[in-house]
Amino acid sequence: MKKIIVTGALGQIGSELIMKMRDIYGYDRVIATDIRRTECDVVQTGPFEIVDVTDSKALFDVTKKHQADSIIHLAALLSATAESNPLHAWHLNMDGLINALEVAKELGCQFFTPSSIGAFGPTTPKDNTAQDTIQRPTTMYGVNKVAGELLCDYYYYKYGVDTRGLRFPGLISYVAPPGGGTTDYAVEIYYEAIKHARYTSYIAPKTYMDMMYMADALNAIITLMEADAAKLKHRNSFNVSAMSFEPEEIASEIRKHIPMFKLSYDVDPVRQRIAESWPNSIDATAARQEWGFKAEYDLRKMTEEMLLMVSAKFNLIA
Ligand code: NAD
Repeated sequence: MKKIIVTGALGQIGSELIMKMRDIYGYDRVIATDIRRTECDVVQTGPFEIVDVTDSKALFDVTKKHQADSIIHLAALLSATAESNPLHAWHLNMDGLINALEVAKELGCQFFTPSSIGAFGPTTPKDNTAQDTIQRPTTMYGVNKVAGELLCDYYYYKYGVDTRGLRFPGLISYVAPPGGGTTDYAVEIYYEAIKHARYTSYIAPKTYMDMMYMADALNAIITLMEADAAKLKHRNSFNVSAMSFEPEEIASEIRKHIPMFKLSYDVDPVRQRIAESWPNSIDATAARQEWGFKAEYDLRKMTEEMLLMVSAKFNLIA
């Protein structure tokens, strides 16, 4: 990657990925784009363009203008939001993706887009879910993600586009808020722990889902994009995960730092149903073997850092 264009750059992943890639590749070599603008570090520290990914011409023109050789396509509607507006999800997630793939094909760009554990469904084996297994999701987001994985494979086999992708679990971070996913509770819980020493979870106890700290997710994207293509058997949609937990486990880790922390439940049936259709834990062996995936953060280390950084955000520590 020498010159990289990123769509959906002001979201939870883009807000941190852009800054990390600008440190590595150069500030003028990472072009951030989004449908909206906010006065944040991403906009203020390097090139930024307003681009709606459903507008194929606008996406093509901006990529050509900046002579990008890589596209990181992040613009999407996430699982819970997609369930409340399935047609909009189809339009943004599928038309946006195929527009970005077409630009990559026309301009010869390397291509990355994330899939998700949402690409699995209720008939997928739940524990240590294999890289290659049953994928019959029952959510619009899941349908989009499976179709997206197949589409990225298709552009590689048919047109030789260097497509690569990861099936991300729930991502936990403190810079930008999560964008409407089913695993957002695992971010909110840290904010509420710091602010009020209590949290009401919309996910029921004993519901296990895979998770990963943002620092590990960013390293995974960059390592996969820089990996030797000859070693990749699963180009798109590598399973990656760092931990799997349920609400009581994250609460008890928080209590090691905030002993009075209280967890209660008010379960949201929509997000609970989505969570129950996903695996309890996935197997990342293919990612480790084919390009050296490694996660540094477990629940203990992530909790220490999240509590510290969220406290700093609210000026609760010096
Ligand atoms: P997000 O919701 O935080 O950000 C999405 C960004 O896309 C927003 O900044 C939004 O303004 C922008 N956007 C919306 N419509 C657009 C359009 N028409 N044109 C251009 N930009 C538009 O999402 P995120 O968490 O950063 O996720 C990025 C990708 O990673 C998505 O494909 C998502 O499915 C995937 N993913 C995320 C997670 C997670 O936990 N965050 C987990 C698995 C997979």
